[in-house]
Amino acid sequence: MYIVQIASECAPVIKAGGLGDVVYGLSRELENSGHCVEVILPKYDCMRYDHIWGLHEAYRDLAVPWYGGEILCDVLCGWVHGQLCFFIEPRSQDNFFNRGCYYGCNDDNMRFAFFSKAALEFLLRSNKRPDVIHCHDWQTGLVPVMLFEIYKYNWMEYQRVCYTIHNFKHQGMGGSDILQATGLHRPDYYFDYDRLRDNFNPFAINFMKGGIVYSNFVTTVSPHHAWEAHLGEFGYGLGHTLHLYQEKFRGVLNGIDYDVWNPETDGYIPHHYTKDDLAGKAKTKKALRDRLLLRDADKPIITFIGRLDDQKGVHLVHHAIYYSLSKGAQFVLLGSATEAGINAHFQHERQFLNDNPDCHLELGFNEELSHLIYAGGDMIVVPSNYEPCGLTQMIGLRYGTVPVVRGVGGLVNTVFDRDYDTRHLPEERNGYVFYQSDYGALESALDRAIGLWYDYHDEFEKLRLQGMNCDNSWKYPAKDYVEIYELIRHK
Ligand code: ADP
Repeated sequence: MYIVQIASECAPVIKAGGLGDVVYGLSRELENSGHCVEVILPKYDCMRYDHIWGLHEAYRDLAVPWYGGEILCDVLCGWVHGQLCFFIEPRSQDNFFNRGCYYGCNDDNMRFAFFSKAALEFLLRSNKRPDVIHCHDWQTGLVPVMLFEIYKYNWMEYQRVCYTIHNFKHQGMGGSDILQATGLHRPDYYFDYDRLRDNFNPFAINFMKGGIVYSNFVTTVSPHHAWEAHLGEFGYGLGHTLHLYQEKFRGVLNGIDYDVWNPETDGYIPHHYTKDDLAGKAKTKKALRDRLLLRDADKPIITFIGRLDDQKGVHLVHHAIYYSLSKGAQFVLLGSATEAGINAHFQHERQFLNDNPDCHLELGFNEELSHLIYAGGDMIVVPSNYEPCGLTQMIGLRYGTVPVVRGVGGLVNTVFDRDYDTRHLPEERNGYVFYQSDYGALESALDRAIGLWYDYHDEFEKLRLQGMNCDNSWKYPAKDYVEIYELIRHK
């Protein structure tokens, strides 16, 4: 099959979180199993150009209709670690993608509405006719809307769309100006509850709702989160829409790229290891301590890696630091906060704990350091309020770092409690799970993990290996996606 992914991220060239990992990892797996995959992305000024090979012009002066006029774009093309990617660069005063950031601008809805339009226009003008267009999250929710309302009538009638939602919280809202700009005329038609009108704000169109309504198939990133979004509170107002379209909605668990995340070959860690020989992990733990100036002591290292925002359960992250220290463990945090208040809080904590030889808080985004932490840590804590899939626990498992997680979303599908899980055999269990989002629940899970490390070390090592035995590669999820593509292709 010929598959084109349209997305706002693709790791490692553009990565703000898990979305980037998924777009890259899934594309590679699909290509390795014989499909042809291309990725269309915005050309941001701040992306990691050092991860692109052979960047060259692929299409000059692409005229993208916009507000009755047009914006000229150049499309560049290059390989990101073997993956063919196209980067759209508009030449307009709006400067859509030269903002020094990927997200967080007041006109994000316009920026990504434009990107979606430009991506379709590029397919049209360059005569690309993929079997399936796979788009992701609110940023590309208007792709299926425009495809089936406009481009279908312009020689793109056989294309099908699979739409994957990675985070229901951010849905992309706009007014009639978005419709006008993108050429979706007839506001009355689109401002209908059956189409784009937001379920709660009658004055707004909702990009993600449009994605759900118009796509041929909709997925979210884990089976448990599919249930939570449809029937629980985590659909953030789209539960009813999902209910209407439940026949074409499914949860497909994300994988991680086993070539990128591989303790046997990882270029960012100083000592390699396998599940048959963990000596390199012990040496990497020492290297992590040396790098972060932690004392060399007979203690477990508990880690946290992730965005510091409300979704990730920051109050529990904060508590995990102090509780772990009080229980004789060391703690390493790598996190980036976009919200000023949360950032200030952790900056303050960082200063406060600066001289503590058992703790290091690193604020910011650092891919290389993240690999060292996954490899050098003993446990990784993921106390999220909600977590559509979560990659850090899967990466932890791959590196023999035992996850301690809250039982929500994809964490339920990937981490099985060593002591209490009833659905898996003892040898299939791989971590610790707690359910409530209060201190007591977190403490009891951490107690069990730290207690095992100190008192039954052999058992802890066994648990580590059981985690390393799990298969969270893209092998199975990619098969699920191919099945979905086949299904919609023949409709
Ligand atoms: P989300 O997509 O909600 O941010 P995920 O767990 O799905 O969370 O994916 C997070 C990805 O981003 C992982 O690959 C993780 O290693 C990476 N990551 C998150 N924060 C940082 C950071 N501060 N530095 C480096 N990598 C990070």
